[in-house]
Amino acid sequence: MKKKQICILGSTGSIGTQALQVIEEHSDLYEVYALTANNRVEQLARQARQFHPAAVVIANEQHYEQLKQLLSDEPDIKVYAGKRALDEIVEAEPIDMVLTAMVGFAGLAPTIHAIKAHKAIALANKETLVVAGELICQLAGQYHTPILPVDSEHSAIFQSLVGEEHNPIEKILLTASGGPFRKLSMEQLATVTKADALRHPTWDMGAKITIDSASMMNKGFEVIEAKWLFGVDARQIQVLVHPQSIVHSAVQFQDGAVKAQLGVPDMRLPIQYAFSFPQRLPLSGERLDLFAAQKLEFFEPDLKKFHCLALAFEAIRQGGNMPCIVNAANEVVNRAFLEDRCAFLQMGKVIEKTMERVGFDKQPTYETYVATDAEARRVAAELIQ
Ligand code: NAD
Ligand code: MG
Repeated sequence: MKKKQICILGSTGSIGTQALQVIEEHSDLYEVYALTANNRVEQLARQARQFHPAAVVIANEQHYEQLKQLLSDEPDIKVYAGKRALDEIVEAEPIDMVLTAMVGFAGLAPTIHAIKAHKAIALANKETLVVAGELICQLAGQYHTPILPVDSEHSAIFQSLVGEEHNPIEKILLTASGGPFRKLSMEQLATVTKADALRHPTWDMGAKITIDSASMMNKGFEVIEAKWLFGVDARQIQVLVHPQSIVHSAVQFQDGAVKAQLGVPDMRLPIQYAFSFPQRLPLSGERLDLFAAQKLEFFEPDLKKFHCLALAFEAIRQGGNMPCIVNAANEVVNRAFLEDRCAFLQMGKVIEKTMERVGFDKQPTYETYVATDAEARRVAAELIQ
């Protein structure tokens, strides 16, 4: 059998490196065709030596010479640099699947290129669906390209829907850990630091999504992601704070039946399932022990405390380019918070003001998204100063 050829966008990140573990464990089924990263040249070169892809791309062109140098004794690995190279590499004929594991708006263009080249998408980069869910779904339909969720909640929903293709969804129960600040008061939230925010209670992830989890913007984004992936109205999606991160999410059907996927928090499972669907493959590691597991709790999210989640709901209500505005402003405040230029509670305020100031467009095109993203970044950056 021919091995599935996989392109990983963002191979040096949290999802990217775990995806490589999955590929290593199932090297009889999967092969890396291309690896890409933004800045971590040395790590990318190490990965290339180990997995021997046909090509590597470093998005930041400044690192091109160094990468070329590091791989000078690997003549079979082609080395490219720049954003355009990302759009081009995903179209390479042998690729069967593209794992979008890069961060932020930057994932949108290569994802569109991959869909148009009929590559199956294993989607980790949720920002793509937040910004342009309607466009992505329309293109995926037009080009008959499957989009397989990698986000753990969406994978859980996807797994719960297997065999239910003709049964309408009544409701989606989207679980959230609540992040490290679940129990803090407003007064306490005012002084939390990035070190506090980076200490996530149940998941070990990249810095950007860890901050988004602390502010719960991540959960707002996941509501948008679920709306597009599963074709439901956002009002059918209920967010439940579930601090144990054992129930990864659930679907309720018309007869009241609720199907969920449970397990220990381990991103390798949703990554592997996106690769192997509809099959399940062996996965080493810890198993869920319900006797040992703490009690399973579920709470309503506090929208006053978690302003960012409320703003995401407002963006969903308005639609059009509003989620794109929120995403761009969020990328700016998230970076500023990580660089100690913005306080935790200031993040929501800047996003809210950006939503008021950037032009609203009810029916955006790809060009609108690009312009909106640039404008919202400019406005948010100005507001922080
Ligand atoms: P990360 O920061 O650990 O890694 C990001 C990767 O993308 C790196 O390889 C980096 O080089 C690359 N990258 C970053 N910016 C880029 C740019 N502008 N152009 C090209 N490449 C770029 O991030 P992560 O935690 O692995 O998250 C990746 C995506 O997956 C995000 O969209 C995140 O929301 C989503 N996701 C992550 C997790 C998780 O457990 N980490 C869970 C669910 C969803
Ligand atoms: Mg998630």
